[in-house]
Amino acid sequence: MARNIIDGKKVAELLRQQVRDDVREWVGRGNRPPMLQAILIGNDPASGTYVGAKTKACKEVGIESETVTFPDTMSVRELKEAIRTYNNDDSIDGILLQLPLPGHLHPSQVIETIDHRKDVDGFHPMNVGRLAVGQPTFRSCTPAGILELFRYYSVMTKGRHAVVVGASNIVGSPLAIMLSRENDSGKATTTLCHKYTRDLTRHIIQADILIVAVGSPGLITGQMVKEGVVVIDVGINRVSDSSRDKGYRLVGDCDFESVAEKASLITPVPGGVGPMTVAMLMKNTLLAAKKSIYPSDNM
Ligand code: NAD
Repeated sequence: MARNIIDGKKVAELLRQQVRDDVREWVGRGNRPPMLQAILIGNDPASGTYVGAKTKACKEVGIESETVTFPDTMSVRELKEAIRTYNNDDSIDGILLQLPLPGHLHPSQVIETIDHRKDVDGFHPMNVGRLAVGQPTFRSCTPAGILELFRYYSVMTKGRHAVVVGASNIVGSPLAIMLSRENDSGKATTTLCHKYTRDLTRHIIQADILIVAVGSPGLITGQMVKEGVVVIDVGINRVSDSSRDKGYRLVGDCDFESVAEKASLITPVPGGVGPMTVAMLMKNTLLAAKKSIYPSDNM
């Protein structure tokens, strides 16, 4: 691996090892293994792959998991009912609702139904609110995984200018909160850009740390970034490639070659942020089982 390429697979493996050891210790003390309930709606192949990767990782670290697949014709009411059943089931510690949902199911309506104590994705408004005011919470897995990468590669955020491109509820916005808080994970001067940002390059060129989570291949090119920038490319895009058996390959939001030439560190796609997201989900599920974020006597 080239000197400036961040090895997300390796760091994720270290994290999973840590979770595996912690699960073993937890079970060794007489507790049942943590249990993750995954909900998949419809037959989107990418969502199926992601859920498959997550349940495989569960198995590897000693977390039990089950996936329920519902048809994409399911109503909001039916989905909420199913979620309430899982909320009330004491043998389930974490609930994972794989996004995106079919158009008629609005994520914000449904996510609020998940018991915030089982919200291992960290998407519930209660958990996002706690993140915003610096209280212990389930942190959204992708941003939390990015901060782990910073820790592993000794990327200092304090006092530096971080530019986040993409302001979704699951990546960009929670990451901007984490980076901008005056606590251990943040202390960065943070700019959050989105599709309404005027003159994107003017902001990006100033970044010491650039995180791109848009879903637009080749959006960021080498000419747009400063020499020495740390680049985290969150985007996962399928571009057609007849040389591959599948007929496509995965790329990020950055034009990798030109950006890597100027970056001091950069994540590849695949093998950068993706494995970290899965590892952080394992960590959150263990935290849910241990009731570390919301101790029972506090509720
Ligand atoms: P989203 O579609 O919910 O949000 C996209 C964001 O990008 C919006 O805030 C939008 O305003 C902004 N945007 C769109 N066009 C823009 C432009 N031209 N300039 C600046 N901003 C622009 O996206 P999401 O769910 O956050 O996902 C973003 C990408 O990250 C996707 O490719 C997704 O597959 C990937 N993703 C990867 C992981 C992982 O683990 N690696 C996890 C989640 C998402």
